[in-house]
Order: sequence, then C-alpha cells, then structure tokens
Amino acid sequence: MAGSTVRTRAEWQEQLAGGIRDVRALPGLSDERRQELAEVDAEYPFFTTPYYFGLIEKLDPSDPIYLQQIPDARELQNPAFLEADPLDEETDMPVKHLTHRYPDRVLLVVTHTCAMYCRFCTRKRKVGKNPVPARAEMDAAIAYIAHHTEVRDVLLSGGDPLTLTDAALEYIIRKLRAIPHVEVIRIGSKIPCVNPARVTDALCAMLAKYHPFYLNTHFNHPRELTPEAVAACGRLVDHGIPVGCQTVLLRGVNDDPAVMKELVHKLLKARVKPYYIYQADLVAGTDHFRTSVQTGLKIMESLQGHTTGFGVPQYIIDAPGGGGKIPVTPQRILELTDDRIVLRNYEGNVYSYPAGGYSKDGASVGGCPDTAAGTARAFVE
Ligand SMILES: *Cc1c(COP(=O)(O)O)cnc(C)c1O
Ligand code: SF4
Repeated sequence: MAGSTVRTRAEWQEQLAGGIRDVRALPGLSDERRQELAEVDAEYPFFTTPYYFGLIEKLDPSDPIYLQQIPDARELQNPAFLEADPLDEETDMPVKHLTHRYPDRVLLVVTHTCAMYCRFCTRKRKVGKNPVPARAEMDAAIAYIAHHTEVRDVLLSGGDPLTLTDAALEYIIRKLRAIPHVEVIRIGSKIPCVNPARVTDALCAMLAKYHPFYLNTHFNHPRELTPEAVAACGRLVDHGIPVGCQTVLLRGVNDDPAVMKELVHKLLKARVKPYYIYQADLVAGTDHFRTSVQTGLKIMESLQGHTTGFGVPQYIIDAPGGGGKIPVTPQRILELTDDRIVLRNYEGNVYSYPAGGYSKDGASVGGCPDTAAGTARAFVE
C-alpha cells in the first residue's frame, strides 16, 4: 500500500542525491589543504557528481578533470583587474534574470544550480549561491520577450537549466513557444558532460515538442567523452535536437593543439558540432586557468585546414565590459586592395585572387591572378 507511492530514483537523481558536497571529505588531502579548500568553498561553492568525480585518474591538479572540479587555493588570490562580472551581464538586464545584449536574441537565466560547479565559471559570482528564480520572475522575463518582437532567439542558461525538473523546464519552454516571434529556443547545459543519465528519453521527447530546439553543451577534455556522455548526446540528436559544444580554453586542461584536436574529433564522432572555443573571461577567482591568446591562435592554426571544416569551432573573446562575443582568427589576409587579395593557406603558402569581382566591360577587374608563386600552384594542383 505505502509501496505504491514509492518510486525508484532514477540514475540521474542518484547522481544528484549522492553528490559530493563536502570538500573536507575528499580523499588524499593534508590537514592544511583541507582547511584551504574549506575557505575556498565558503566563497565559491563546491559540488560534483560521483560520475564526474569518477573520471579523475590522478587525485591532484595535474589531472585535467580534477582541476576543473576541485577547489583550489588560487581562487582566492586575485589580481586587481579581475572582476566578479567582467561581461557586465547584470547591467544589460532590462528585467531580472534576462540579459538582452544583442539585437535579436536574449539570454534567460532559469536557475543558479549546476550538477557540478566548474571552478572557472564565468558566473562564479552567483552559481550555487542564489535560489532558483521564482515563477513570477520567470513570467515577468517571458512577458518582456513577448513584448519585444525583435527577439527571435531565446537562450536558456544558468546555472544549468537541466537541473530543473522536466515539468519546471517545460513550463518555461511552452510559454516561450507560444510567442509567435520566437523562432529558435536553445539551452546551454553541461549536464551531458557531468550527469549524462539526466538526458532521459522522456526529457528529449519533451524538448522535441518545441522544435526548432537546439542545445549547446560543454566539454573541455577528450576524456569527458565517455560512452555514457556520447550516448546522452546521441539521444538528443536522435530526437532531432542539434547539439553544439562550447569549450573553454583552460590552462592545464586543453591549452594544447593535440588535446584540442582529439576533443573536436571525439565530439564529431558523438555527432556534436564544435561551436565555440572561449578565451577565459576576466573573472575573479579564475586567473590560474587563463591561457595566452597566442596559444589560442596556435590551436586554431592547428585545426583550420588540418581537419574537418565543421569540426573547427570559432575562437571567441567575450569583450570585457559587455562588448559581446568577438571571433578571433589567425591572420589569413596578407593584403587587400581594390585589385587583389593575398591570402595565406593552412600550410603557410601564399595565394593571390582578383578582388574586384565581375566586370561587364571585360576589363578584368583586379586583373588575372598575378604570378605569385602560390597562385600558379593553386591552378596546377
Ligand atoms: C552568448 C550570448 C548569446 C548567444 O550568442 P550566440 O553567439 O548567438 O551563440 C546571447 N546573449 C548573451 C548575453 C550571450 O552572452
Ligand atoms: S555548468 Fe556552466 S554555469 Fe554551471 S558552473 Fe559550469 S560553466 Fe558555470
């Protein structure tokens, strides 16, 4: 009788209920380090799933999976130029929880909870610290979108939206889909990486009711693409949900062309499109993760032309002060005049192309490709 109301907890709920939240209980810590980490945890909360913790191979910061999830004393040592909110997300908020920065799309924070708190998070100032936004606040944000007919793309973010229940999430998505000018709805979620069992068939089927629906997930290291994670991405794609990946360039994790190439290859095998690589934002508490832009450009050089075109993400710097995302690309254009463009290819060879376009009087605008050595080769090969 009582048994009729007892439901078995699903695997993904076990992962959350059995989550590791006491930093002092981590194995292999000296007393001094335990004290240090407790101080970090008091400022920036710690939480991870047994699944993601289990991907650690070596229990120290030289392990890229350890480094991403275990607090570090360096989080409290901050150079003065780092800020809590370097992207000015809070100042671009016309209504609580909603950032309207670009003309035609908005970012809606639907929760501040995650299944694991990435130590390098851009929203370190608020994840794990604030309550889930009240339903009335979500209603107000959705009303803003309904009144702003220029908004054709809504990005649900957080925190991790997939920490909400299917019902809580569907409440928001159904209301958004009812707005005629909202064309695309998408979610940013790290769940496929840190609690893949959460991506149930029921969840996918619910999301698929609201097509066109997209999901961008977040993998930073090839070891994260376990059979479970690959299956989670596959379930989304099988439901017609295109999955992209936003990777953060992190020192000691993936600041290496070989690691990044292995990551994009594994993503493609999982049917995930590498979308962005982010240069780390200037967020207080994350300085030890920052890598030089030169390293980022070297990684882009190692990908473009050397591997599948749709496996090459864009490298992005999100401009401090709210300037938005700016793509940064290795220099390909060596010269551009009315007559010609001189280009450098992935192997470093130089080619020239007439820049002027169609000319109806036959005077070849920009002339024939000139005799740059590379041009001749381009025609014969
Ligand atoms: C990243 C972001 C978006 C979405 O940008 P895309 O380049 O279209 O993926 C929208 N709003 C804000 C505030 C963002 O930071
Ligand atoms: S899952 Fe996303 S929002 Fe949550 S801590 Fe990681 S980067 Fe931040």
